Amino acid sequence: MAVKLTNFINGHWQESAASEALDVINPATGEALAATPLCGASEVAAAADAATQAYPAWRRTPPNDRAQFLYKLKALLERDFDDIARTTTLECGKTLAESRGELQRAIENVEVACGVPILLQGYNSEDIAPGIDELMIRQPVGIAAIICPFNFPAMIPMWFLPYALACGNTCIVKPSEKVPMTMQALFRLIEEAGFPKGVVNLVNGSRDAVDAILDHPAIRAVSFVGSTPVARYVYSRATANGKRAQCQGGAKNPIIVLPDADIEMTVRIVADSSFGCAGQRCLASSVAIPVGDAAQEFSAVFAEAARSRVVGSGLDEGVEMGPVISHDSKARIESLIAKAAAEGAEILVDGRSPRISGYEAGSFVGPTVLSGLPAGSEVGATEIFGPVLTIHPVETIDDAIGYVNRAAYGNMACLFTSSGAAARKFRYEAEVGNVGINVGVAAPMAYFPFSGWKDSFFGDLHAQGRHGIEFYTQTKVVVERWPDHWSRKF
Ligand code: NAD
Repeated sequence: MAVKLTNFINGHWQESAASEALDVINPATGEALAATPLCGASEVAAAADAATQAYPAWRRTPPNDRAQFLYKLKALLERDFDDIARTTTLECGKTLAESRGELQRAIENVEVACGVPILLQGYNSEDIAPGIDELMIRQPVGIAAIICPFNFPAMIPMWFLPYALACGNTCIVKPSEKVPMTMQALFRLIEEAGFPKGVVNLVNGSRDAVDAILDHPAIRAVSFVGSTPVARYVYSRATANGKRAQCQGGAKNPIIVLPDADIEMTVRIVADSSFGCAGQRCLASSVAIPVGDAAQEFSAVFAEAARSRVVGSGLDEGVEMGPVISHDSKARIESLIAKAAAEGAEILVDGRSPRISGYEAGSFVGPTVLSGLPAGSEVGATEIFGPVLTIHPVETIDDAIGYVNRAAYGNMACLFTSSGAAARKFRYEAEVGNVGINVGVAAPMAYFPFSGWKDSFFGDLHAQGRHGIEFYTQTKVVVERWPDHWSRKF
């Protein structure tokens, strides 16, 4: 029987009273690593009470003093870097290099949030009228909740948490029920960093915990990352309950390859984008749009790159791609490949049911390449979230940009070219929030907003950097009159 994980509420690790639990499965081996308690309203309420109690003192703690806790947390994350990365690989399946990469991104967000004394500054105007000044100050929102997906167990919570805390909010984190162990490890470090009790709380669970967060009146801000249907639902319910919300959803990211692109470099970069993290990145490229003469060479070289990718356990040396998150996910991806074939696609490389020696119980899907999927097909519009790239050749760059802009999602689009003019046209016209030029995963650094558009995002202020500071603060404007003649008294 797998060990049931605990919550961290009011500075203490607490057994959950939840009657239901979900096994956390190592996707490479099928082995149960732990069990996630599926908490509900009472545990969310306990966390919200703790956060409410802690809020007045935390809010009054000077920003520079709040940042000191984050500096400590950064040092602890660096101390335990390899252990945390290993935990992420065990529960999530990605390679150790990928786990290290996401943890590095998590740390970078802590670093940026340490700049809170300057990031939090407002602005002012002297003499808006004789003897009258006006100033804008930023104050925290109150209690913030962070709801996370499975694919980046370390990085995604940290797109939000450091900023929320630095701005003076108290927080509740709900990790994905599929990968809760990385957050357990991070919360051990949060405990060690000495944050005052109740300032940061961890509640495990799935839909019931989310609903309880969305309905709890004390929670004022909700940050969510996950699939589009759930993002839309969370945004609607949170905002209907008067909370501010930022909800990042799914994606189906196109990359355009112009005939003047360096094909060898392009294929290497696109293969890393499509098959890195087994295609389970919201910035994975899943549709390649070669233009004109690029189609034949790109398709042939890319298919070879897919065939030669080394698939296996993320812990093993030399492995380039791990398993997908679960057997359910594998079954869903493989049925979408079958459906694409039924809709008329040619399967150039078929990754269904690969044999991975020693890992027969794992959830592996090999790199897959499809071509000729008819326009308007259902699979063409569906986020597969697995190591599958569809090739969709077109005649002109305008056709390619039209394809990008007709799509429902707008998370990322990339262009491969050696033409500055084509790059500028694309950057200008693409209706997506993250653009790559000769880059396959246009992931913004911590000091830029992660800017999904259309069905990839619900809200206005995005994760990370200045957007994070704005999301987690409310502006207050003060208009002050101090008539000159009063100073003559002194
Ligand atoms: P998911 O939507 O299934 O789950 C996300 C969170 O929502 C989890 O914490 C889960 O417990 C909760 N949840 C699930 N169903 C719910 C429901 N019906 N009601 C209330 N809460 C519910 O997503 P996932 O499978 O964990 O993650 C993969 C998805 O996340 C993909 O679609 C991917 O594109 C997306 N994603 C987007 C970004 C981005 O920045 N746009 C980043 C990472 C992942």
